[in-house]
Amino acid sequence: MASDILKGALATEFRTVEAMMRIYCKKHHSSETLCESCQALLGYAETKLDRCPYGESKPTCNKCPIHCYKPEPKAQMKAVMVYAGPRMLLPHPILSIRHLLHERKEVPRKPEAWQSNKKPVSEEAD
Ligand SMILES: [Zn+2]
Repeated sequence: MASDILKGALATEFRTVEAMMRIYCKKHHSSETLCESCQALLGYAETKLDRCPYGESKPTCNKCPIHCYKPEPKAQMKAVMVYAGPRMLLPHPILSIRHLLHERKEVPRKPEAWQSNKKPVSEEAD
């Protein structure tokens, strides 16, 4: 399932999250596709990516200074990441390596609240 609303780096991030959720759901909920609750969580993640104030220059969620998840989905997603993170490399080497490289990049300056996330925040002049 690809996202209909996300583009570029955000779409890649969504694919990474989805791949991790599949690994997690298969093991924990014995579902070959995503079970209902995992699908709901993935939908939540998609909305959050779409509304991320950083837009396409967003850091990895792990390093992000903005805590946009509510406590419950945050705990669920954390469990998914902890389980699926180390299991991503073999089935999804390219997504994994991209994510690891991304993780090492510096976190961009926090965007101003009024900015649209469709504008590139990293390219503004000083
Ligand atoms: Zn599930």
